[in-house]
Amino acid sequence: MTHQPPRSDRSIAIDVDSPFWALTAPPAPSTTPLREDAAVDVVVVGAGLLGLSTAIHLAESGARVAVVEAHEPGAGSSGRNTGFVIPNFPSPLGPAAAIDAFGVEAGEWLVSNVGGAADFLFRLTERLGIACEQDQIGWAQAAHADEMLNGLESIAKGWQAHGFPIELLDADATAALLGFTRYRGCMMFRRGGQLNPLAYVRGLANAAIDLGVALYTRSPVLGTERSGPDWVVRTPLAHLRAGQVVLTLNVATDGLINLGHAPLRISHMRQTATAPLPPTSPYKGPSLPFSDTAPHPNFALRTTRDGRLVTGGDPELAHRRLTGLLPPGQSIEIAYTWGGDTAHTADLLPRFEEPAPGLFSAIGCNGRGVAMASMMGALVAEHLSDPLRSKGLLLRLGRPVRGF
Ligand SMILES: Cc1cc2nc3c(=O)[nH]c(=O)nc-3n(C[C@H](O)[C@H](O)[C@H](O)COP(=O)(O)OP(=O)(O)OC[C@H]3O[C@@H](n4cnc5c(N)ncnc54)[C@H](O)[C@@H]3O)c2cc1C
Repeated sequence: MTHQPPRSDRSIAIDVDSPFWALTAPPAPSTTPLREDAAVDVVVVGAGLLGLSTAIHLAESGARVAVVEAHEPGAGSSGRNTGFVIPNFPSPLGPAAAIDAFGVEAGEWLVSNVGGAADFLFRLTERLGIACEQDQIGWAQAAHADEMLNGLESIAKGWQAHGFPIELLDADATAALLGFTRYRGCMMFRRGGQLNPLAYVRGLANAAIDLGVALYTRSPVLGTERSGPDWVVRTPLAHLRAGQVVLTLNVATDGLINLGHAPLRISHMRQTATAPLPPTSPYKGPSLPFSDTAPHPNFALRTTRDGRLVTGGDPELAHRRLTGLLPPGQSIEIAYTWGGDTAHTADLLPRFEEPAPGLFSAIGCNGRGVAMASMMGALVAEHLSDPLRSKGLLLRLGRPVRGF
């Protein structure tokens, strides 16, 4: 499928299905479908960030693990996102929302894990030797109006009260940092950053295989059924038997399992990458990745290591917005556009549920999954290996104290 770019643009054919990240990501590991029945301790369904992080941490604790993926690792949101590493809840939530929803003990626990999720991710890539163009250069959210700056200030104070060094910058400091004078200020997470998401998820897939995880691709799970003390996970050619099954299906969750919570809201988001800016371009992009608080579609922008700009929206919108950043006469060349689906829970907070003994579902990183899903995989693995150690706190995310 191709998309016709704006007429003023020099690039002609834009591949709308394949994310730009495939250009610089290493190839996907060589894998096969599940062709023969097998038995393991845990089956993880879905090879996105959440499934692969869960599998890696389970394998490290000594479990025999299989991951079953309908397509390829990163085929879902994990390989198609913007690559922002954000140690925060989805906008406009801050720590208070998690404590309000899950109570003090589970809420505080979630806050400390989410606040530490970016550090967790960058250390994980280091530990596993994953090269994914990762840069821990910070991430900012810029306020487009005074009342939004007030909201960011109260979120920043919430994080500070939990010991996280989140800063609030005024309009001048924001302009110096991001290169835009239109913002009232910004909230700055110095521990955030950016990466190539497809390279990251493929790196996790390789690390999982190295740890002995059996990774089956092109094997859509058709159903899971109880069979004596075990679960049987059915795919078109064969099945897996395991004592525990973890579903990490993201947008496909409601299709495979009825969890009894409010239905997920699925939204499609488009991304656009330019050709590398010419070396003579006076505009080099922001010094760190950021999003703003403007109503949908908000503005988000980052650079890549090869000097491109990546932003949200279709090519026409991206072209219009980016052209405005350049001096008159300099045109912007749109090179890639692709899309992906995001699942939002009703309250934008993550969920972990055990709808039947030994069957688990984790969902809902709500547009913040790069850091959060990486960290949540370790928490899921800890819960499965030793629920007492985590005091069962993860399961409280399935039963909010309030609402939903
Ligand atoms: C365009 C876009 C931009 C985003 N930008 C950012 C960002 O900059 N920063 C950020 O933190 N977050 C961002 N997000 C959100 C982030 O990508 C997700 O929160 C995260 O990737 C979710 O990971 P996951 O493993 O839960 O889901 P997924 O990566 O979607 O993985 C689910 C996997 O399950 C597989 N699957 C589904 N059904 C079956 C089945 N029946 N059998 C077997 N396998 C199945 C799918 O093929 C898929 O591979 C963005 C999302 C999108 C779409």
